[in-house]
Amino acid sequence: MQFETKCVQAGWEPKNGEPRVMPIYQSTTFKFDSSQHVADLFDLKAAGHFYTRLSNPTLDAVEQRIAALEGGVGAMLTSAGQAASTFAILNLAHSGDHVISCSAIYGGTVNLFGVTLEKLGISFTWLEPDATDEEIQAAIRPNTKAIFGETLANPALAILDLERWANVAHRNGLPLIVDNTFPTPYLCRPFEHGVDIVIHATTKYLDGHAMSLGGVIVDSGNFDWAASGRFPEFTTPDASYHGLVYTEAFGKAAYIVKARVQLMRDIGAQAAPMNAFLLGVGIETLPLRMERHSSNALAVAKWLANHPKVEWVRYPGLKGDKYYPLAQKYLPKGASGVVAFGVKGTRADAQKLMDSMKLAAIVVHVADSRTCVLHPASMTHRQLTDEQLVMAGISPTMIRFSVGIEHIDDILADLEQAFACI
Ligand SMILES: *Cc1c(COP(=O)(O)O)cnc(C)c1O
Repeated sequence: MQFETKCVQAGWEPKNGEPRVMPIYQSTTFKFDSSQHVADLFDLKAAGHFYTRLSNPTLDAVEQRIAALEGGVGAMLTSAGQAASTFAILNLAHSGDHVISCSAIYGGTVNLFGVTLEKLGISFTWLEPDATDEEIQAAIRPNTKAIFGETLANPALAILDLERWANVAHRNGLPLIVDNTFPTPYLCRPFEHGVDIVIHATTKYLDGHAMSLGGVIVDSGNFDWAASGRFPEFTTPDASYHGLVYTEAFGKAAYIVKARVQLMRDIGAQAAPMNAFLLGVGIETLPLRMERHSSNALAVAKWLANHPKVEWVRYPGLKGDKYYPLAQKYLPKGASGVVAFGVKGTRADAQKLMDSMKLAAIVVHVADSRTCVLHPASMTHRQLTDEQLVMAGISPTMIRFSVGIEHIDDILADLEQAFACI
């Protein structure tokens, strides 16, 4: 099946007489005829749903759909994107371990890693997306467990050279994890470029309508946890499952099964069936939306680039952008819907411009069907120090413009009238 077909068909194949549309299994639990069957489920000897904290048929259908879109062996939904990032790391690193993270990533992830996971004893080294192979190599330690980055960084719009980072990671027996929220699998499938684990804030384009928080972890199945030698938790018995060994019992799906049966079981950041249902519906139109988001955003970027009150524009699909060559390689179908620009003047001018917009709403959100606008320095990234702001590629007059799927003429007209106010 082609990508567009998978978006509407994958994950739910009703049998004779069953609902055409995947139902919402709004049930915490499931009924069984024998206690032995339940015991086998608990021991992971049988597959099936028995308690929604671990799995649920509605979630399962959407997980299969997303795994098919990314080309992975399995996926797990979480309650929010933040939970997906948390589990992606905790599934392979614990107290005393070390992780390398690209610095140009979502502000919430900077806090999660740099403060909360550091408190749990996991240390992080931050590297810029343009770090050389030698710099990445030099940051790797005996206790390093993973390298993390964003395909297309929110909001810096830097593109990670996935193949280059994956090569360095693999040479050292390390998996590369990327947050693929901004491109979505329609614009970029990181597994085809050597990435091992993908996460998403499904809250953004995958849901696409700003209706439900969610996250997902997708496992490529390509990383060899046993051969790496760095991951005894995957290759030695798990005391919480009667000595089960993940790589032996689950093969290529060892990582994603472990994330579910250890972390989701113990921590419980499960997605709600209703949210999973909305996500599944949103994904049906993903290709149509991403095409429109990308073409509208390119038009906005070109318009801004010619405006006298605009200091700079960043959009990797724009010729001349620093990341244009990488966009040609990794995002050939379009560079997604987010444009960043700097207003000539001060932080106050940037705020005045935003306040003057009518169609583009000020919301703490990005990447949904309605055009919206945000000032990272005073909103999403306000907990970051000035130094962290610079490392994340954010300046005080930077505006993050999330281009929706409205008619381009209306979006440009709104920008036109707002710029006339400053
Ligand atoms: C929004 C976002 C997140 C966090 O997702 P939540 O659902 O808000 O927890 C993570 N990564 C990126 C790139 C995001 O844009």
